[in-house]
Amino acid sequence: MNDARSALVLFSGGQDSTTCLAWALERFAHIETIAFDYRQRHRIELDQRLVVLAEVRRKFPAWSSRLGDDHLIDMGMLGQISDTSLTRTMAFALEKDGLPNSFVPGRNLLFFTFAAAVAWRRGIRNLVGGMCETDFSGYPDCRDDTIKALQVALNLGMDRSFVLHTPLMWLDKAETWSLARALGGDALVEVVLEHTHTCYENARGPREDWGHGCGQCPACALRKRGYLAWRAGTKVSMG
Ligand code: ZN
Repeated sequence: MNDARSALVLFSGGQDSTTCLAWALERFAHIETIAFDYRQRHRIELDQRLVVLAEVRRKFPAWSSRLGDDHLIDMGMLGQISDTSLTRTMAFALEKDGLPNSFVPGRNLLFFTFAAAVAWRRGIRNLVGGMCETDFSGYPDCRDDTIKALQVALNLGMDRSFVLHTPLMWLDKAETWSLARALGGDALVEVVLEHTHTCYENARGPREDWGHGCGQCPACALRKRGYLAWRAGTKVSMG
């Protein structure tokens, strides 16, 4: 019922999901992409992801033939019920419980659940997401156990055998750059640098060594730190 050679990639247009897309394009015969409009503050990523897809098609002919439909799902209700710095105009800060106020409760659970519903309809078995618990902010829905539990729940609840892949789960940001390079060489690194949008702000910003972004928000800080560590051949320093 699900084609084991096919995959649906959660593709937001950022560094992580672009690397996951390349990872899937190297492994599966047919790849589709999905993104969610949840009224995110950085909605520019929804435009930028189309640029990244076009660049991948243009620069990687072998991958292009495997790249199928793209799906954009309207999840505006998530933005309506979420009072977070990703869905409202407020400063990035830590909450009393230690979680960043950029944590959107339920986001990744809903993303994978909606992706599974689309994969059900499309006959796709593999779902791929860029969740990572190594060097990120402690988002509980990025944890390996969360994703594994969700896979069980989806397979029980939909009577399918979906496989949820998170190829970045145990990589730090320097290793993610390294993986992109291994998968697509300097051409893919340049696509990531020039066209992906990781920043939490809704603007591209000037081109820096590590790409575009405000350079100040937590996402930019992590991306910059990872890039510099990769270039220096060192591990990402925490903090
Ligand atoms: Zn930023």
